[in-house]
Amino acid sequence: MFEKIVIANRGEIGLRILRACNELGIRTVAVHSSADRDLIHVRLADESVCIGPPSSAESYLNIPALISAAEVTDAVAIHPGYGFLSENADFADRVEKSGFVFIGPRPETIRLMGDKIEAIKAMKAAGIPCIPGSDGPLGEDPERNLEIARSIGFPVLIKAAGGGGGRGMRVVHSDAALANAVSMTRSEAEAAFGNATVYMEKYLENPRHIEIQVLADGQGNAIHLGERDCSMQRRHQKVIEEAPAPGITEEQRNRIGAQCVKACLETGYRGAGTFEFLYEKGRFYFIEMNTRLQVEHPVTEMVYGIDIVKEQIRIAAGEPLALRQSDIRPNGHAIECRINAEDARTFTPSPGTITQYHPPGGPGIRIDSHIYNGYIVPPFYDSMIGKVIAYGHTRESAIARMRMALTEFIIEGIKTNLPLHRDLMHDAAFQAGGTNIHYLEKKLAAAAAARE
Ligand code: ADP
Repeated sequence: MFEKIVIANRGEIGLRILRACNELGIRTVAVHSSADRDLIHVRLADESVCIGPPSSAESYLNIPALISAAEVTDAVAIHPGYGFLSENADFADRVEKSGFVFIGPRPETIRLMGDKIEAIKAMKAAGIPCIPGSDGPLGEDPERNLEIARSIGFPVLIKAAGGGGGRGMRVVHSDAALANAVSMTRSEAEAAFGNATVYMEKYLENPRHIEIQVLADGQGNAIHLGERDCSMQRRHQKVIEEAPAPGITEEQRNRIGAQCVKACLETGYRGAGTFEFLYEKGRFYFIEMNTRLQVEHPVTEMVYGIDIVKEQIRIAAGEPLALRQSDIRPNGHAIECRINAEDARTFTPSPGTITQYHPPGGPGIRIDSHIYNGYIVPPFYDSMIGKVIAYGHTRESAIARMRMALTEFIIEGIKTNLPLHRDLMHDAAFQAGGTNIHYLEKKLAAAAAARE
């Protein structure tokens, strides 16, 4: 096992990785920006290194500073967490070329999955169901593009091959709008991602977002840990996640799970990963693969009783996967609410000092958060300040526990989206389960209209 790991991240996930390292007896190095000296994991780590000023570009995205931190502390491996450099193939490459272990897939795999067109091609070849689409980049000929759109059937979605974070997409409903949409998406993609390549997909109108968690050791062993439903989204950002997905049968889970496992084995995948699908009318359609730990990994951990971060570390250390598909089964239900420092109605970020903090507890409640009484939420980073995970033997009991937890939770001094979550736990459609990816957006729009 590794002797020492650099945690190349911050916030709740920095702390989550530190906890896993401690359990495995691994020493830790917390790298942090000058704004993050007071993070819990920075204080708890065996060593800490300030790698730059508050701006992410100069700290958490600063590859030379991260490599130097690993060098000066004699660390062996680097865990990238999520966001920041976690899906940056050049970073993974530099880490390995500098003699450290990157806790994640091989750089080639990250590069492949980072190009959505190539990723879809590889997944299709491995037998994963994909969305009907252009099967490659769109060319400059508007007539040819029109032919493709007509054969797929309107509405279609123009997507940037290098896109991410829900950006670089445009829905097209008619012939007349197509050529302009293609050129607009192309120039936006060039500006935002430095890659003007775009492709076309059928636009699914009312899908759910369902994703499959996998673990693979790159030595011929791979398993899936079932699915998560992440359909409760705002601006393509997940707000609530749960496992298992309401209404998905064991047979469906086993079938799509086995397809993902097969794709992992065929592509030589190594590490934890997530196959993201849209799910509509009983069918799964692949949209992308995330080659890293996900924010919502805890719901899977609760239902499967497996520590995904420890598994990632063991795989990176070269240990063969000890888990077998036949030994693991989902048990009970887990729901995660992402707690953000933001206004619950306007969603404006709300950094500042936490003047009162009282986290909830009791059976089945897990809090993954780095905040504490007196902690100052800096304005420089993502507004997520933690996650509440509620586990129960049934979905109903998980919801009941989540309601109580959200009632108990006190965070004062800053605004949070706790009121939104409290409301959603009483929402009839959420309680029924299986809402689609537009549900929350529509509900928020209706509530805003009613206030006017
Ligand atoms: P990103 O990397 O930007 O997250 P994704 O390909 O994962 O891009 O898509 C983000 C979101 O956009 C999805 O969760 C879904 O809400 C929507 N989306 C993507 N492709 C389609 C599609 N073909 N039809 C309908 N919605 C889509």
